[in-house]
Amino acid sequence: MNEFSHKITAWYKQNHRSLPWRETADPYAIWLSEVILQQTRVDQGLAYYQRFVSQWPDVLSLSQASEQEVLKLWQGLGYYSRARNLLTTAKMIVNNFDGAFPADYKQLLSLKGVGKYTAAAVGSIAFGLPNAVVDGNVMRVLSRVFGVQEAIDASDGIKKIETLANTLLDKENPGLHNQALMEFGALHCVPASPDCMSCIFNHMCIANQKGLVGQLPFKQKKITLRVRYLNYFICTYKQGEDCFVALKIRTSGDIWKGLYDFPLIETSEEVEIEFLINNNAFLDWTNNRNFTLSKVSDLQKHQLTHQTLFARFFHLRFHEPIAVDTKNGISLVCENSMNDYPFPRLIDRYLQNIDLINC
Ligand code: SF4
Repeated sequence: MNEFSHKITAWYKQNHRSLPWRETADPYAIWLSEVILQQTRVDQGLAYYQRFVSQWPDVLSLSQASEQEVLKLWQGLGYYSRARNLLTTAKMIVNNFDGAFPADYKQLLSLKGVGKYTAAAVGSIAFGLPNAVVDGNVMRVLSRVFGVQEAIDASDGIKKIETLANTLLDKENPGLHNQALMEFGALHCVPASPDCMSCIFNHMCIANQKGLVGQLPFKQKKITLRVRYLNYFICTYKQGEDCFVALKIRTSGDIWKGLYDFPLIETSEEVEIEFLINNNAFLDWTNNRNFTLSKVSDLQKHQLTHQTLFARFFHLRFHEPIAVDTKNGISLVCENSMNDYPFPRLIDRYLQNIDLINC
């Protein structure tokens, strides 16, 4: 074992967090945790992980779930393609691999949503396969300790880090090594102001010696943020004791595919209600039906990685039945069954704080 691996695994044994997917070699549990934890903090992901294993304790039970059920349990985690890929992969495991995760790196890579990172994590931790994981934490630690100055979002930099990670990997115990490196990046060599004084690598860390800790890892691309204004119509219609709400399923080509929101007119800037109700899409859909505008929300800001969303909710109380528009994915749902539908966090948060029936 090389000095780097020796140090990091010793550190891990002393310092790692106790988490349920660390107490098992079950590839289902490890895969599930790895998918949930991509782009998600451990404290937030843990509750989702527990809900998933409690509802679907193995890959067979998950494979029999509906997409709506999986998206509903995933609600609030974001990056919803991960949830859809979970279900596709569960079905692939059952149909193509007799219900058992393959103990082979290339076959793991053939699964939907399983890239190099997840294949290496599941393969090394569950099966002892000698493939190094490279995620944001690993990139940060390796680029600092070994002074990698190539951009980690460009192919040369990525290749250099991957080669380094595979050279350093302890092939005898790759699962332990990989988990140690990721945990060290998550807990000690953190993005801002890491504690270099007490670090196990401070004598050999090039970034520390050359005063480059704040500059590494180096990235060349700047994220450009798209700003969108989502003008939502919450359309309700009361029939006897029942209150119906028009929901719209989101389709491909945009954020939140497979989740539900409301009929909407998107604009590039803030607009007044008069502009919206004279919009052709709105006129077509409402088709001269009578309604009362009963409430207008404040502007709600919602930040995604590459988009800033501003949403406003217009509550329209219809006095005659609302049109169902299957071509545009609009259906009428009884207010009592709203909980069965998966919503983006922006919508869910808004719904938590209003009384639909009396709005
Ligand atoms: S010395 Fe500082 S920058 Fe280098 S590995 Fe340790 S915490 Fe990270």
